[in-house]
Formats: sequence, C-alpha cells, structure tokens
Amino acid sequence: MGKPTGFLEVTRETPKKRPVAERVGDYKEIDIDFTTDKVTAQASRCMDCGVPFCHNGCPLGNIIPEFNDAVFDQNWAYAYEILSSTNNFPEFTGRICPAPCEAACVLGINKPPVTIEYIEKSIIEYAFGNGLVKPNVPTKRTGKKVAVIGSGPAGLASAAQLNKAGHSVTVFERADEAGGLLRYGIPDFKLEKWVVQRRVEVMKEEGIVFKTSTNVGVDIKGEELLEDFDLIMLAGGSTVPRMLPIPGSDLKGIYPAMEFLSQQNKRVAGIDRQFDHRGATYANGELLATDKNVVVIGGGDTGSDCVGTSNRHKAKSVTQVEVMPMPPAERASQTPWPNWPMMLRTSTSHEEGADRHWSIAVKEYVGDENGNLKGIKIADIAMEVVDGKAQQVHTNEREIPCELALIAAGFLHPQREGLLSQLEEKGLEFDERGNVKANNYKTSVDKVFAAGDMRRGQSLVVWAISEGREAARQADIYLQGSSILEAKAVSTFSVV
Ligand SMILES: Cc1cc2nc3c(=O)[nH]c(=O)nc-3n(C[C@H](O)[C@H](O)[C@H](O)COP(=O)(O)OP(=O)(O)OC[C@H]3O[C@@H](n4cnc5c(N)ncnc54)[C@H](O)[C@@H]3O)c2cc1C
Ligand code: SF4
Repeated sequence: MGKPTGFLEVTRETPKKRPVAERVGDYKEIDIDFTTDKVTAQASRCMDCGVPFCHNGCPLGNIIPEFNDAVFDQNWAYAYEILSSTNNFPEFTGRICPAPCEAACVLGINKPPVTIEYIEKSIIEYAFGNGLVKPNVPTKRTGKKVAVIGSGPAGLASAAQLNKAGHSVTVFERADEAGGLLRYGIPDFKLEKWVVQRRVEVMKEEGIVFKTSTNVGVDIKGEELLEDFDLIMLAGGSTVPRMLPIPGSDLKGIYPAMEFLSQQNKRVAGIDRQFDHRGATYANGELLATDKNVVVIGGGDTGSDCVGTSNRHKAKSVTQVEVMPMPPAERASQTPWPNWPMMLRTSTSHEEGADRHWSIAVKEYVGDENGNLKGIKIADIAMEVVDGKAQQVHTNEREIPCELALIAAGFLHPQREGLLSQLEEKGLEFDERGNVKANNYKTSVDKVFAAGDMRRGQSLVVWAISEGREAARQADIYLQGSSILEAKAVSTFSVV
C-alpha cells in the first residue's frame, strides 16, 4: 500500500473534458490528460484491501491494488508488467470500459471509488511512450496453424495469446481494416483509430498475419478452413441488428445505428464509404444528420454514440427515446455494492445535447407523399389496473418531427448466412438466442472454438478480451495437451 492515509487526504479526480462547443466541432477524444503527479495522487487513494473487490469486479481479473501501488511508487515499468499480465489491450479498456472494477471498489461504499480506469490508461500510454511495449515474438513455433475469424477485441486477444503460445496465427477480417467494432462502430471521439492501428502493428511484428477484406464463408469456404488449419477460432461478433417492425418501416430515413456510425468512422479515416462494416455495399448511400430532426430509438450506449455523432453533424434536433422506465439517479437498491449498479447514466454525448425520454412506445413511422420519413408517432407507456390486473397502456399519443430515425435497439445474434451456415452443415450448434454454442469455448464441431459476442451475445470490450484470452487457453490445451497461457485468476460477478 503506497500511502496508508491517501484515501483520507485525496479526493477522486478524473480528467477534465474539452468544452462542448469545441469538441462537437471535431471527432477527437475529449479527455484532457492528467499530469503524472495527479495520476500518482489518485493511485495513493487505493487502500490495498485485504479482499480487493475491484479485482473480482473486473472480467479480466486485473491485479488492480498491485498496479495502483506501483504507480504510486512511480515504478511504471512494474505497473505495466502487472497490467499486461492480465489485459492484452489496456489502451482500449482504459478509454471505453464502463469500469465494473470501479463499481466494485471498496472505497466506493462511502466515498467515490479509485479512478482505476484512468490509472490503467495512464500506465499503458506511459508504456507506449517510453518504449516498454515490445513485440512478444515466441522463441519456438509449434508448427500448428490457427485461423481467427474476426478482428474485434475477442479475435485480437485470442490471436495475441495463441501466437504467444507459439502457434502460427492468421486473422481473417472482412472489413478493410482490423479492429471490429473498435474500428467501425465505436465513434472516434471515444476511441481514436490510431490507438487500434498502433496495437495491430505490434501484433504484426509479433508474427501474426492479418488478411483484411476477406469475408470467410464467401472468399474462403468453411470447408477449406477446416482442411487448411489445425484450429479455427470464431470471433465474428453479433452483427444482426434488432429492428422495429412497425407501420411505415419501408420509408426512406430509417436505418440501423451501425450503418450510420460505421460510415462516420470511415469519413473520419478519409476512406471510401461505399462499403459497410461487413464489407457489403451501402444500400442507402451517405447518411448525414445535418439539418435533420433525428430520433434515436434505444437508450443504451450505441444510442448515445448516435447522439454524439448527430450533434457533430449539426442536426436540427436530437431526441432519444427508450422503452424502459427512467432508472434511478443513484444506485438502485436491487443492485447494491459491489454489483454493477442499475442507475441513470449520462454520457459525454448526452452532455452535448439531447432530449431524452423514457417509457416510450414507438408506434408508427409517418411519411410524406414521396415516401420519405417526416415524423414518428410515439406514446407514453403507463401501468393501469384493469379487472384487478396491472397491464401496460399507451397514453398521450403524439407525432414528433423526424427525418432521420436511427435504431439502436441492440443486436439479435451473429449473422447465420455464410460461414456459420456452412459450419452448421458440419454440425455447428447454436444456443436458444442464436449465438454459437460452445462448452468451455469449444463448439460442437471438432477443432472449432468460439469467443466474444459471437458466443456470448452482445456485451463489452472487456468481456470480449476476457473471452479471447480464455478461449485461446482452451484452444492451446486442445492443440498441445497443456498450456503456458495464464488462466484467469478469479471468477467474476456477472456484469452487463
Ligand atoms: C456502437 C457501439 C458502441 C460500443 N461502445 C462500447 C463501449 O464504449 N465500451 C464497451 O466496452 N463496449 C462497447 N460496445 C460493445 C463492444 O464493441 C463489443 O462487445 C465488442 O466489440 C465485441 O467484440 P468481438 O470481438 O466479439 O466482436 P466485434 O468487435 O463485433 O468484431 C467482430 C469482427 O468479425 C468480423 N467478421 C464477422 N464475420 C466475419 C467473416 N465471416 N469473415 C471475416 N470477418 C468477419 C467483423 O467484420 C468484425 O470486424 C459497443 C458496441 C457498439 C455497436
Ligand atoms: S477495492 Fe478499491 S481501494 Fe480496494 S484495492 Fe481495489 S482499487 Fe484499491
């Protein structure tokens, strides 16, 4: 423990954000980074708890008290060694993780928790800035060939781990650049793409081969993969969006959030926007919110990203509607510490301006004479007792102006056509939600493993990294009978 009285003397501080008026004019990240002194002061707040709940709250089992202590001592190299032993990509989680570790921090019982996420970002940026991040080239190769399908955080983590174990890894990605939703999905103002590319370059130096613009199932058939590789790791994500089958759905102006968001990532990168994140041609041309009344349907993180992007496009108005009731402002009693708290979350995108509504039913899209969206009929959802039974009723039905509706209602399951249906013919099974079924990450087809959103369903970057690491270890045991790869230290609470 660096400073026994740190938590009594220092208050929690997180980096300031760039002013709203400035940041909505660009797509750069919005934190103004701390000085090193401030980071070490924040690390001094860690109490080095006998039972560090933060460690248990992290899906990766990050060894948090130890790296906090090393940061307090300004021993950055040791802090990096500890952090990188459990997390392949702290530069992603240090920026965009909702930080279940902080929700579980013991200090959080009666004071604001330790700023674990920002300490993590500071360690990894120090490490990159000071030449501590070196390619981890294995000294011996096993002669086994592994194909990883998908280059999101799950695919990247499993590739890094399997390469470390000495296997020859090829990552196939249908998009033109590697990164999955880190690259095409999550807006640049949350995660600038040079951060993703910097890691991909390290992995290439480690010997991992990336084959982008390669749609497995189309460009290479599942059968060929099974013949050519000793092991296949499926990490294709959960890509089929949940749409809203209500009257007027065929009008022009209603799109899944991902089509809108991935176009903007490409616009920022200055690359051709005619292909979507799945490599398919954009059916609907260029989508811009400029001068439009935008309605974002869905109150989650993807919806919040649509709000931030619409404000940067200079939309006329941005409204976000959510079917669920408004959560409480403070941690709900059903989710006491150290659980992930059910409570109202206001993102930096919301701070930039949005009209937010909860308990809303979206009833109908309304079009003009040319088939263009011009409004949405919505109603409030209320509970009413009818014949002694509580039932949902819709009241106060009204039409709000809308020329662009973005549906951010989540994802159903991975895309079945293509690779998965080819493997289904070989016996691949799916769970009741349509995700790839796997027992300890091994699917029902010999030598085929699965990790990330494709197996787990839509989740978080930190869970995708955790799945990639765990699946790699199981795959390594399958290939070699045992594994040198680290096993996760703890079982974790179920968060998100
Ligand atoms: C808009 C948005 C914002 C988000 N924001 C956050 C956030 O702030 N914090 C957070 O923790 N989580 C966030 N998430 C969730 C997070 O991004 C995902 O949980 C995570 O990326 C899943 O990782 P994955 O590797 O399983 O899949 P993905 O990241 O989806 O990657 C799968 C990759 O596989 C490729 N692929 C699929 N099929 C094939 C094929 N047949 N051949 C070749 N390639 C293929 C896809 O093109 C894709 O690149 C967000 C999600 C969205 C949609
Ligand atoms: S729970 Fe909080 S105070 Fe305790 S060890 Fe973890 S970060 Fe430090």
